[in-house]
Amino acid sequence: MLEIKALKSAYGRIEVLHGIDLSVSSGEIVTVVGANGAGKTTLLKCLSGVQPVIGGSISFRGETMTHVPGHKRLKRGLAQSPEGRQIFTNLSVEENLRLGAFLFTDARVDQDMAEAFQMFPVLKEKRNLNAGGLSGGQQQMLAIARALMGRPACLLLDEPSMGLAPILVAQIFDVVKGLKALDVTVLLVEQNAFGALSIADRGYVMETGRVTISGSAKELIADPRIREAYLGH
Ligand code: ATP
Repeated sequence: MLEIKALKSAYGRIEVLHGIDLSVSSGEIVTVVGANGAGKTTLLKCLSGVQPVIGGSISFRGETMTHVPGHKRLKRGLAQSPEGRQIFTNLSVEENLRLGAFLFTDARVDQDMAEAFQMFPVLKEKRNLNAGGLSGGQQQMLAIARALMGRPACLLLDEPSMGLAPILVAQIFDVVKGLKALDVTVLLVEQNAFGALSIADRGYVMETGRVTISGSAKELIADPRIREAYLGH
């Protein structure tokens, strides 16, 4: 579904992605783990079209996307729920969800909203409240639910567990795992390597702008290099 080849990107003259090869097949949950500054966010920004690519290619569902503007990628089914959530805190929960469906005007929007509320009952309870009043975990759920309102085929998630209490982290990973049942393919960027690998099918480890290790999530969790560097044992 998503094919990234020899991808390079830079901030000014400083190259930070040095040729990334990565693929995600339909129905998979694939995670990219790595330390702070490894280039994970930059990679996702290249995929969503907000960061220029200076080498290599991105193809999505058989179409080249490398230099296609972000809004067109969204139309073709590639959606991102960004790091830091970026929900509209002055708008209600429901208004935030409707913004996620801005591409559509059909009756299915109400149905999609009903499904989102089924998946996240707490958002239903708070549908008329300002999103700014939600807890961190609830805001993260809203960010994911909003991205789903765009009916993506593939969802890019940037650090959904960031800043959350452990119990909420577990809930968010459960939610991400549940996306499989909705036929949404997921590329999940995480610093929480253990949590991410526990729900993923495959994973990639990034270090200073390169993929250094890749494999099935099971292999990676068992890999001594990863256990030492990212899992703390
Ligand atoms: P984090 O988990 O902190 O988001 P990351 O793995 O996502 O880390 P990036 O944010 O992609 O890493 O950063 C990769 C490299 O690019 C780092 O060396 C970082 O300092 C640099 N970088 C990131 N954003 C910018 C920017 N706007 N301008 C210049 N350099 C940047």
